Amino acid sequence: MSQGKIPYGRQTIDEDDIQAVVEVLRGDWLTTGPKVKQFEEDFSRFVEAPHAVAVSNGTAALHAAMHVLEIGQDDEVIVPAITFAATANAVVYCGASPVFADVCPQTLLVDPESVAKRITARTKAIIAVDYAGQPCDYAALRKLADEHGLRLVADACHALGATCHGKRVGSIADVSTFSFHPVKHIATGEGGMVTTADADLDRRLRIFRNHGITTDHSQREAAGAWHYEMVDLGFNYRLSDIQCALGVSQLRKLPAWLQRRREIASRYAQAFGESGDVRPLGIRPEVEHAWHLYVVRTLGPRDQIFADLRGAGLGVNVHYVPVHLHPYYRRTFGTGPGLCPVAEAAYQQILSLPMYPALTDADVDRVVTTVRSCASRSRAA
Ligand SMILES: *Cc1c(COP(=O)(O)O)cnc(C)c1O
Repeated sequence: MSQGKIPYGRQTIDEDDIQAVVEVLRGDWLTTGPKVKQFEEDFSRFVEAPHAVAVSNGTAALHAAMHVLEIGQDDEVIVPAITFAATANAVVYCGASPVFADVCPQTLLVDPESVAKRITARTKAIIAVDYAGQPCDYAALRKLADEHGLRLVADACHALGATCHGKRVGSIADVSTFSFHPVKHIATGEGGMVTTADADLDRRLRIFRNHGITTDHSQREAAGAWHYEMVDLGFNYRLSDIQCALGVSQLRKLPAWLQRRREIASRYAQAFGESGDVRPLGIRPEVEHAWHLYVVRTLGPRDQIFADLRGAGLGVNVHYVPVHLHPYYRRTFGTGPGLCPVAEAAYQQILSLPMYPALTDADVDRVVTTVRSCASRSRAA
């Protein structure tokens, strides 16, 4: 796609993915069938977490995590300022207040020192976001959580396949959440997963995704029983067998895709290195990065560079508007500029470059050349 447009991210769908979906369509179970169980088992094995619960999207995964940790009215949950709005929204769904922590200037990962300053008697949990695919400082966050009796949640929607001190993301926090939106590491159209080592949380997650009902349709069919009980207020957050079949097929290819993302990242790192007009973010020594995004900081005017790159057919993006600056949060929680100065300053400079496994070396070279020329031109201007 050398002269066409290059998006910042996109799914890879092969013939075997299509076949996997078609097989489900020809079978008996479109939802609550065997593919859901298979996807959960394969996923749980991959992230080395004892339990995995498939849900309808990554936001539902966060909502389910907040619910089973009993986050409610008057509670506070600390979230980083640099994340997708859904991280904070899930806290609000449960009637609680998100409290925004600032990020580290080098990595834009949540800063444990800022988290420590935000802890109050009302704080119940910390949601760590593995921004761009890099695991947070889980050792520091775990220490804070343990000292203050807080639950630690990982919004790992960027970090499927990443590790921290050799442990897979998904097996580090009390509860971890993933998304299978097409720009993420594997795609099911819409989809999500919650992982945990806690059998009781696993049981309650399954009830929550199924209206708060203790058995699902296939379990009742197996038991030949009509009776069911709704024990909690839940949602319909199930993922269909059609989507799970795609997930199973995609997950098989994830190791190769992670490898390709890492190759692309090292090409970018070589090209932009230390001294260019754009600078890659820092990488913590103890992590294996999953490279959902390749984020650089611009030294020249970001908006100009952004516009020039879009004009040249590169689908660059900005991740993210700091959540506390969104009108909803300003209006509802009284947040605004000055609350998280590191995040606010970084937001003026960041740019996400194209990053997905199907990018060819020629595509990467074109990105490098175009970014170099747009960035140096803007600096000269
Ligand atoms: C994608 C994403 C989500 C939400 O996932 P959906 O599947 O789109 O609902 C939540 N948090 C982060 C950090 C994400 O990148």
